[in-house]
Amino acid sequence: MFDNLTSRLSGVIKTLRGEARLTETNIQEALREVRMALLEADVALPVVKEFIARVKEKAVGQEVIGSLSPGQALVGVVHQELVALMGGEKADINLSTVPPAVILMAGLQGAGKTTSSGKLAKWLMEQKKKKVLLVSCDTYRPAAIQQLELLARQTGAGFFPVQAGQQPKEIAAGALNFARRHFHDVMIVDTAGRLAIDEAMMEELRELETLLNPIETLFVVDAMQGQDAVNTAKAFADALPLTGVILTKLDGDARGGAALSVLHVTGKPIKFAGVAEKLTGLEAFHPDRMASRILG
Ligand code: GDP
Repeated sequence: MFDNLTSRLSGVIKTLRGEARLTETNIQEALREVRMALLEADVALPVVKEFIARVKEKAVGQEVIGSLSPGQALVGVVHQELVALMGGEKADINLSTVPPAVILMAGLQGAGKTTSSGKLAKWLMEQKKKKVLLVSCDTYRPAAIQQLELLARQTGAGFFPVQAGQQPKEIAAGALNFARRHFHDVMIVDTAGRLAIDEAMMEELRELETLLNPIETLFVVDAMQGQDAVNTAKAFADALPLTGVILTKLDGDARGGAALSVLHVTGKPIKFAGVAEKLTGLEAFHPDRMASRILG
């Protein structure tokens, strides 16, 4: 991922060798490389433009101090701005409410919602020592309910049993009662996904949102979808009060631009990243670490 940015930047460092400071002229070529690399990584154009303008503003006229070469100084500014683009600080999951803290999972089919629900249950059990209940409101695909039940068994999370013919709202209300009675701290609610956004799906999600009053509504999106991922996230953010994003499949050969565009386009921070298919493959998203990974 982002191999281009890494290799282009090392080229940039070479071109700036011997310069005493970063100037408008000497960083022009370098910024062109950064711009190309970001576009190749499928970062949205308005994001790229604003990013380049900010890097330029910060870099030009900067005295190169101490042991830093101008190239390294520029990479430093790029790093800083990458972190800022992804929200600066790590956006923590919010669980501060009267239990059960409800986490509603939304997203298109295949994005990794069910898998991420299981991974998140494991993460919350291990990292936050929470008692977690997994609930599936995906009544369109019985296989999805079974998949979640299996994940519950594998992680040791609780699972809310669904009766045939139950509707999502009925399941949600029943699960909420169940979680209260069994003292679950957190209840993760998986929902139905479609191949494309449709109004019926949004309406169902809105109804679940109203009924469950989740402390977190996380949009799960596949990083491999690049700019489409970001556009879908925007549509969901406009229709639902999202609190954050889980970006999955960052381990794939995704060009990864979605990681850089999501916050800027949707206003919602990435809270977790899916980095492997297996149950341990979910990480809290750290803008700083991601920037370091991007810069190689
Ligand atoms: P859903 O339809 O949104 O519930 O999607 P699923 O959870 O069923 O996931 C779809 C596919 O993506 C499955 O084969 C998962 O194993 C895979 N998947 C989900 N997250 C990741 C990830 O972070 N990395 C990789 N490599 N595969 C993932």
